[in-house]
Amino acid sequence: MEQTAAQGLSSAEAKERLQEFGPNQLPEKRGDNPARIFVSQFNSPFIYMLLAAALVSFGLDHTVNGVFILAVLVLNATIGTIQEYSAQRAATALKQMVPQFAAVIRDGETQTVNATELVPGDMVLLVSGDKVPADLALSSVQDLLINESVLTGESNAAIKQVDTPIPADAPLADRSDQAFAGTIVTHGRARGEVIATGLQSQIGRIAADVSAVEHIKPPLLQRIERFTLRVSYSVLAVILLLFVITLFRGADLASVFLLGVALAVSAIPEGLPAAITVALAIGMRRMAKVNVIVRKLVAVESLGSCTYIASDKTGTLTVNEMTAKVVLLPDGRRYRVGGEGMDMHGDILGEGLPPGENDDLEPLILSGLLANEASLVFRDNQWNASGDGVDLAFQVLAAKYGFDLQNYRQTYTELSRIPYESENAYSASTNDVAGELRVHVKGSAEKVLAMCKRLPGGASIDPTAIMTQADQLAGEGYRVLALASGAVSEGTPSLAGCINDLTFQGLVGMIDPLRPEAKDAIARCRDANIKVAMITGDHPQTALALARELRIADTDDKAVTGTQVEKAAAQGEEQLAECVASSSVFARVEPTQKLTIVQRLIDSGHFVAVTGDGVNDAPALRHAHVGIAMGKRGTDVARESAELIITDDNFASILQGIKQGRIVYNNIRKVVFLLISTGAAEITLFILSVLFGFPIPLFPIQLLWLNLVTNGIQDVALAFEPEEGDELKRAPRAPSETIFNRIMVERVLVNAVVMGCLAFIVFAWSLSQGMSEESARNITLLLMVLFENVHVLNSRSETQSVFRQPFFGNPLLLFGMLAAQGIHIAAMYTPGLKDVLQVEPVSLLQWATLLCIALVLIVVSEAHKHINKRKAATRPSTDAG
Ligand code: ADP
Ligand code: MG
Repeated sequence: MEQTAAQGLSSAEAKERLQEFGPNQLPEKRGDNPARIFVSQFNSPFIYMLLAAALVSFGLDHTVNGVFILAVLVLNATIGTIQEYSAQRAATALKQMVPQFAAVIRDGETQTVNATELVPGDMVLLVSGDKVPADLALSSVQDLLINESVLTGESNAAIKQVDTPIPADAPLADRSDQAFAGTIVTHGRARGEVIATGLQSQIGRIAADVSAVEHIKPPLLQRIERFTLRVSYSVLAVILLLFVITLFRGADLASVFLLGVALAVSAIPEGLPAAITVALAIGMRRMAKVNVIVRKLVAVESLGSCTYIASDKTGTLTVNEMTAKVVLLPDGRRYRVGGEGMDMHGDILGEGLPPGENDDLEPLILSGLLANEASLVFRDNQWNASGDGVDLAFQVLAAKYGFDLQNYRQTYTELSRIPYESENAYSASTNDVAGELRVHVKGSAEKVLAMCKRLPGGASIDPTAIMTQADQLAGEGYRVLALASGAVSEGTPSLAGCINDLTFQGLVGMIDPLRPEAKDAIARCRDANIKVAMITGDHPQTALALARELRIADTDDKAVTGTQVEKAAAQGEEQLAECVASSSVFARVEPTQKLTIVQRLIDSGHFVAVTGDGVNDAPALRHAHVGIAMGKRGTDVARESAELIITDDNFASILQGIKQGRIVYNNIRKVVFLLISTGAAEITLFILSVLFGFPIPLFPIQLLWLNLVTNGIQDVALAFEPEEGDELKRAPRAPSETIFNRIMVERVLVNAVVMGCLAFIVFAWSLSQGMSEESARNITLLLMVLFENVHVLNSRSETQSVFRQPFFGNPLLLFGMLAAQGIHIAAMYTPGLKDVLQVEPVSLLQWATLLCIALVLIVVSEAHKHINKRKAATRPSTDAG
């Protein structure tokens, strides 16, 4: 390699190599092609039955029926294919909205690039939480642990070290001096040179295995399929009964068989799973528009049922732009720091001291600068920041004090370092300070204080006094960090061994402004009856101060600490339950304790969404009902463990996601309602006719027509329904609630019975007026088409009046209604088709009469909604507050 490791490649060289080696990415997993999807549409018991029916028709010389059935099949399959294909395309497109980044040294500077731009020879930096972006030959490591289960199947993290040479042909699992693309850094830091990218990498070679999509169906779809199957059995049982009765009455076997099949196809909601997939896919697309990327289709719906959001603080509720505002020396001298964010200018003024008397701050500020991993580089006329927010704040503080950020690394050569890991809550480094070897530590007050023996000048420490200072700063809402340093004696074996004899230097209070939208979003969560809690690694007082401002906590609420949670857990289930329910602010929480809290919430019946960003959040994210990772700031690990990714890291987006989730669930209910109730109506019509000894009210071909012209388009159109507006004002549904709850059953019964009975009355009345059977069926069929179109309008809302729905809110639905009605009218006038369907034009008077009868359905449905609303209003609300 011509460049030195410290310089990395030059941008020009990297560009050239990118041309040569191609982008560092694996070929997009190819979805099924449309032809494949089309064929798969025929893979269902219903379709087999219809195919059998078509064959029977041909065999019996009912060619027209046979052709018609086949036409229905092809049309159904075509609609299904279009839906599935576009859902699949949408899912692939979303994936590309969450790019992976890599820290790389180029032109001698640390840069963040899209991982696809890495080339062999690039020098890559790894931090815990990263997904390794390419195969690397490690050149230096620090406590590096990598989870390589995607490659080796070994779930324990592998320890990496570069001291002993490894033969190049060693099995993957033994190559401790390499890191492989796609594996996950769970701990430590490292640096390594890219040796293979894209398809050349180890994971690239087996890409087919790894990128295979999970073919497990989401639970919601499984439930729906089971439900469909159950409905089908009951429908088949009824049909069998009708079959036997009609046969008994002397009809011929073949035509009764055909009728049975037609009735089955019409009444069985076989389109349900497909329509639900569409509803979920639409929700996915709408969520992407509000910055919520869904990694698993079903999470769309689960987010809607969430009753509890356990949010982390930094970055989700705050903007994660730390600014050091206060420095507090152990003797009580207090300094204020001016300037905000990445502004490098700001005065440091001692309270009650003349300006410029800051010399005593220097050692403290130096500790903050050296026990620090962030980098601030002045390039292209601006400061380019990379690294942790706390670390950056200390760099800015040092710049304000007068340190030279461009050159300090040369002045204070670093010899070793303990990087910040959130489980440690501190970081440390040893540096050469003017010829003397010194160690510097920054971290939480508790942690740092435990390492300290004395105060500057040699006086002994009063830990309680310092903790009081820290509590006070925290109570003012500052994030508090403590600093310490000490000499390193000759021959100390490791850095960890020399951080127990330090001099305490003082405290720094940082602010991290609240996200402007957070407060409003939390208020709206309250309206939607979703509980919000803050779980943080930060100090209880800091957490409480912010929580109060956000109104997550009331003035007299207390924070519960991770230690308290652990103690309660040790005492038993009951104590733990009480402890977790007692507060909505959890502070100084360690990852395992976070998991305990989440588990407890789940046990208590909550549907829990958890947000997280760090390596250690992964277990809680995976464990929650809905894991939510932050797209910008989150680690790769967190993103891989989550179902949802918020691309703008904003708490308010979660709320928007919940709203979309609720819309999707409601729309799914609308589709279910439409399909089940129309099916039930047809069955009712047939049962009545058979019971009262009438001829069959509709021919098989007419039933198929009805099924095709109406349900085919309408059910999918309902999946596109927009919001009703009050989604976020309703309480979340109980996690145990099934789709078929009381209101659904009631509505299906009321609507189906009204449709079925009215249709039967019209059929019977027509016959009694001396109409031919053919004409009576014509009238009945037209009425059913009208009914179903009216019914679509009823289905648009479960609770709200038809007339309150924006009429043009769902153009697809309007189009569907017009198309269905238009096609049927056209059939009445089209020679040929008209004879096949046995339909004919009807008089204006008949039209008017039928339309009036159809509109009765609206009146009934409206009345039912109204009664339900009154009942709901008088029922004592169980979730007030
Ligand atoms: P949060 O839940 O707000 O993200 P963290 O887990 O990031 O909290 O931080 C927990 C504690 O660790 C902080 O209160 C602070 O004392 C300490 N800490 C945070 N970041 C750093 C850092 N970069 N270096 C040293 N200590 C840190
Ligand atoms: Mg953090």
